[in-house]
Amino acid sequence: MRFPFALTAKIAKHIVGHRLRGTPKFAMVLQLEPLHTCNLTCTGCGRIREYSTSLKDIVPLEQCLAAAAECDAPMVSVCGGEPLIYPKIEELVAGLRAQGRIIYICTNGVFMRKKMRDYMAAHFGPALEPKLVQLVEAGLVTEKEAESIRNADAAARSKVTIQPSKWHYWNVHVDGLEYTHDLIVEREGVFKECVAAIKMAKILGYQVATNTTVYRETNPSELEEMFRFLSSLGCDGHTISPGYDYDAAKKDMVKRLGRDPKEFFLTRDLTRQKFKDIERWGELFTIFGTPVYQEFLAGKRELTCTAWAIPTFNVRGWKAPCYLMTDGHYPSYQEMLEKVDWEKYGVVDGVARDLRCENCMVHCGYDPSGALSNKPRDTWINFKYNFLPRPAPFPASPELESRAHNGVTIGKGHLAEAKAAVSKEMAGAKSVYQRNGHHDHAGTDAGSDTTQRDELLGKIREAGKIELKND
Ligand code: SF4
Ligand code: SF4
Repeated sequence: MRFPFALTAKIAKHIVGHRLRGTPKFAMVLQLEPLHTCNLTCTGCGRIREYSTSLKDIVPLEQCLAAAAECDAPMVSVCGGEPLIYPKIEELVAGLRAQGRIIYICTNGVFMRKKMRDYMAAHFGPALEPKLVQLVEAGLVTEKEAESIRNADAAARSKVTIQPSKWHYWNVHVDGLEYTHDLIVEREGVFKECVAAIKMAKILGYQVATNTTVYRETNPSELEEMFRFLSSLGCDGHTISPGYDYDAAKKDMVKRLGRDPKEFFLTRDLTRQKFKDIERWGELFTIFGTPVYQEFLAGKRELTCTAWAIPTFNVRGWKAPCYLMTDGHYPSYQEMLEKVDWEKYGVVDGVARDLRCENCMVHCGYDPSGALSNKPRDTWINFKYNFLPRPAPFPASPELESRAHNGVTIGKGHLAEAKAAVSKEMAGAKSVYQRNGHHDHAGTDAGSDTTQRDELLGKIREAGKIELKND
């Protein structure tokens, strides 16, 4: 099965129960944002920009758990911001599990290995020793870290930790192979860390999914190569969605990067072109999401937005109408369901009811539309897709691994190239801006901050000799 039976059964029971009770609108997945702070500044991220004035705020643990209980979605996607920065993330995962929920911890991967070392320290015993040895041999844990796991003190041993479970997934953000991913997250070394974290998680028996956003510049054949690589690492599934042109991200793009957002975000037609192979990918790889949504992405059918099925709760309350757009925040899910005029949103028969919905085909608006369709044919293809055997993992190979690491690990990080370009008085700078179609990013190396990137961009602009366009 693509999705484990127990989890599928839980979701099916939820849908059937609501259908029998005649509930018109109900939650399928809660997008829980306990905070908006993040250690990265990804180019297309709306969150850190829309909520830039409340980045220090967090939702208290009790409120997070109460929100999950109120909307009663069987799945909770803990996102943000970077949820691993949330001070009570372990207690939050444990609390959601105690409520019987399926949990996705959406992370950029940078702190995952630390959290898994915490788990090993808290549970260390003879059963974990072989795995620890394997991790050290694979270079995923250092000798020093291994020793502190073996000799964990009472505080470390009594810590609540995130343990491997069939009920939760690490959901790691990966937007391309190394060069592209590090460009999009605007920091070198992040892809490499994600890969290390995924490998460690699989050795320890965690479930791992990946989460990819597709932008205008995304190359579909690179995505296919990325899925091959992620499959070879033993990932349990992948979610993929077109990007959405958040107002806040668009403004930031103009102001900070001096760039036209139209160059970055997708129209509906372009989304369909990018996703023309999605159904074939669904055969080759364990793509999560319904085949009905895949048909929609590939341009074979229309769907009506069901944003109420994937509500978002954050520091300001229940965000309406959807994860992407904000027309208000409500104190309860029920109040949001009742007060929002849902007929004002979405695209019907090719006509946008709200201009901001015009290009939207994102999973949080339309994937539940696929799952909730009551057409017999849709129910059948959804059922068949999930119950057929999961595609076999792609065989791992040194060639695949080396093709995936096409950026900083082979000395071709974007910052290194941009710095080299600046120091050579822009000679040769063109290449870095034209590679892979990404032509105006310059980022930070791991450990530095946005000031360094902005200074670099400033120098490049001052020089005024760079060509910010493709051939
Ligand atoms: S890691 Fe996620 S929350 Fe952080 S900046 Fe990137 S997209 Fe935004
Ligand atoms: S179509 Fe997209 S932007 Fe519009 S309400 Fe639905 S999910 Fe939100």
